[in-house]
Amino acid sequence: MLTVMKTAEHMNTLYGEFTVTSNRKVRCAVSLTDSEFIVQRLSSIPAGRHRVLRSLRDCVGSRAYREDDNSDWAAYLAVYFYPLKRRWMSSGLSRQRVEHCFRISEFQDPRANLEEAEKWARTVRERSSRQQNMRNGLLMSELTCPYRMMLLVNPHSGKGQALTLYNNHIKRMLNEAGVPHTILITEHQNHARELVREADLSQWGAVVILSGDGLLFEVINGLLDRSDWEEAIRMPLGILPGGSGNALAASIHHYSGASVVSTEELLISCGFLLCKGLVSRMDLVSVHLFSGTRLFSFLSLAWGFVADVDIESEKYRHVGAARFTVGTLVRLASLRIYKGKLAYLPATGDFKQARSTHNGTLRRSTGSPMLNSLHNSCHSNNSLKAMRTEHTPSRSANKAPTGLCDSLLPPLDEPPPSNWVVVPEEDFVLVLAMYQSHLAEDLLAAPDATLNDGVIHLFYVKAGISRSALLKLFLAMEKGAHVDSGCAHLVHTKVQALRLEPYSPKGIITVDGEVVEYGAVQAEVHRGLARLIYG
Ligand code: ADP
Ligand code: MG
Repeated sequence: MLTVMKTAEHMNTLYGEFTVTSNRKVRCAVSLTDSEFIVQRLSSIPAGRHRVLRSLRDCVGSRAYREDDNSDWAAYLAVYFYPLKRRWMSSGLSRQRVEHCFRISEFQDPRANLEEAEKWARTVRERSSRQQNMRNGLLMSELTCPYRMMLLVNPHSGKGQALTLYNNHIKRMLNEAGVPHTILITEHQNHARELVREADLSQWGAVVILSGDGLLFEVINGLLDRSDWEEAIRMPLGILPGGSGNALAASIHHYSGASVVSTEELLISCGFLLCKGLVSRMDLVSVHLFSGTRLFSFLSLAWGFVADVDIESEKYRHVGAARFTVGTLVRLASLRIYKGKLAYLPATGDFKQARSTHNGTLRRSTGSPMLNSLHNSCHSNNSLKAMRTEHTPSRSANKAPTGLCDSLLPPLDEPPPSNWVVVPEEDFVLVLAMYQSHLAEDLLAAPDATLNDGVIHLFYVKAGISRSALLKLFLAMEKGAHVDSGCAHLVHTKVQALRLEPYSPKGIITVDGEVVEYGAVQAEVHRGLARLIYG
């Protein structure tokens, strides 16, 4: 007699009775609703949980297969989940892999069993992506064709384990999610930038990096180096943390509502978001250096304490993300003052707020407006214009190497326009411009930043702060509490553009954690210019 497998599809629910692959004595009733996958154990031996309910939001994929053994007529159904689970000895939650695997043997025809398993796998996939679709954003699979992912790996990033991380975690996840991908291992600095600049982008559905922030910086600049940059920068980008500086990965993990996790758990979380393939817009900031070079930044611009720590701590790369903590303590011991001039264009509607947190003394720029400045030779582009509607255009525009127009920035050798604010202080401990929430895995520097708010979150710490007060600020930053700590030396304001002119002839400026040419620098935000896969 056939083992009975009932299948009912009333009320949109798929129902079946299967045995568990790992133990054929265990039979289960399995139901698939629009949003849940429910497994009810039918036999009471062995003892254990009798009912498990999984949300399809936590599902990355499902597949049907047959074993090689020809005498076995059964087919198999595997469903892969990464639900949030409480961590051992901790109150936090992190994503942990759970696989449900069933043996389907109702029919004596192997093909019929496989067809049944395939129907289940397909329906699980369809319903989980529909769940995802109901949230904001666009599904990558609907956005791009082909779907093949270019995965760039920097084998030297972080502790030098990026390839191991791929082999131990990412390879399996991408296969479970059915994401075809090609790995490209970088051989030298700027290799990723060259690859992306030269690539036939019609072959790729996404470009993802497994490394630190530095490799994504290369990818973004490679895309914007291209003559077809307007189309190229629409390529969905992804980030898997494999470096020692994984600030963007920490930011998107934070935006997804999850709590602080270890580096390895962060990787699983970002892998999960990647498999879900939801694409959102991400702000980019155009940065002009003194020499005329322009580059694009997705994370931060830093000068003073933060930039020095970032670069000095490179030598502690082997300790991973902890390198910033070690670096901060070392730099605190030799705390110094950085002299320079800072000016900015307040974000629309935010000027009053900036003034009140300053205690008064801001003065407006006295620079003459750029009435007879450069004719706007910018590329006229409707989609970019649409994205920038909330910016108040100034009367001048900075000519730049690619067609993207920086309408808010005057030439660097001219004073800022009159609607800019010039910061009265000239002695700083740090200046930090952030466009995403995290400066490092455990530093929530801009708690209210979002992926595409079109805002540069500008922070500066005035000279005169004590070592212990500065240490307190950094400790509070772990939870983003520095912003409301009442520290009189810390100023936080939201801006659209800024200019920094250091006075000392030598020093360090970093963009996205990478050292750039030292000297006067200015920057302007471009809302939602890039696309990021972030779930
Ligand atoms: P980390 O977070 O550990 O600093 P990054 O991804 O930021 O990791 O990479 C650090 C630097 O290494 C970046 O400047 C990047 O451009 C560079 N890089 C990328 N690939 C290679 C390679 N194969 N060899 C050496 N340097 C590389
Ligand atoms: Mg880096």
